[in-house]
Amino acid sequence: AKEQGRNTYQFYTEGMQDREVMRLELDKDLDQALANDEFVLYFQPQLDLNDSSINSVEALIRWKHPRRGLLPPIDFIPLAEESGRITDIGRWVVKAACRQLANWQNGPYANLRIAVNLSGRELDDEGIVDHIQETLEAHGVTADRLEVELTEEIFIQNIEHNLNQLSKLHKLGVHLAIDDFGVGYSSLGYLRDFPVDLLKIDRSFITDVTERHDDAVITRAVINLAHNLGIQVVAEGVETREQLNFLKNHRCDLIQGYFISRPVPAAELEQALSSGVLN
Ligand code: C2E
Ligand code: CA
Ligand code: CA
Ligand code: CA
Repeated sequence: AKEQGRNTYQFYTEGMQDREVMRLELDKDLDQALANDEFVLYFQPQLDLNDSSINSVEALIRWKHPRRGLLPPIDFIPLAEESGRITDIGRWVVKAACRQLANWQNGPYANLRIAVNLSGRELDDEGIVDHIQETLEAHGVTADRLEVELTEEIFIQNIEHNLNQLSKLHKLGVHLAIDDFGVGYSSLGYLRDFPVDLLKIDRSFITDVTERHDDAVITRAVINLAHNLGIQVVAEGVETREQLNFLKNHRCDLIQGYFISRPVPAAELEQALSSGVLN
């Protein structure tokens, strides 16, 4: 057992070293990624359960790494947060989203809104609200086309600053969504103090919502709470017809998940939208 324990330990440290090497390498590569135009936005549609229409898509960043291929955000967003590069990456995301909105503006997808993810670290950036306003204007896009998704972490630290930032964004006309609702550690008081338009119920409640009584109870309660506050609800991580039916029966407004579509490049999204397979 001792021997096995040692081997396990060695295996573990080797794995750790590999990860550490990869981390350092990626951290270095991240320096060039923006300049080399290596980021790309994928889009995941949200289905409106009232009329089966698609009016909004979430933008999810990917990194086309020159050697490692397409990397998901988990591989580089935490790194970028540590090094502070997240500020520039976040600004790039806003710009890429506005560019896409401008591109859609006069065609069949003119009704689409784009939701971008903004971490607490990005909201710390004093100039981010001005950047969003200027970027919208530069692309001739109205603020109501843009949605910002924030996690509950922003209600725990720097509350006054964040309230100020979100109020400014809201005044511009940008929609505000609370991401991963229910898994944060904040109180519900922020729903009273902050201008929230949408709640996104975390996938962890949806996965077993048709099998587990407690998840069903929580999901129904969140929907009712939100509606009574005049807030719309999006369910994340919907993967089955049964989940869709449950959410529809309980008046959830929108759903997002692999059952509708995985996140895809813009061209693929356009193809799916025009062929009607998503509704
Ligand atoms: P998130 O904002 O909660 O995004 C949802 C994640 O769940 C996405 O992973 C999406 O691909 C995945 N997902 C969607 N539907 C399903 C489903 O039905 N089943 C399952 N199992 N998963 C589903 P992704 O794209 O890997 O993004 C992970 C996280 O990275 C995001 O979580 C978000 O927190 C962060 N992220 C993504 N893009 C950005 C960005 O531009 N800026 C910042 N700051 N963070 C980002
Ligand atoms: Ca999100
Ligand atoms: Ca989420
Ligand atoms: Ca999440």
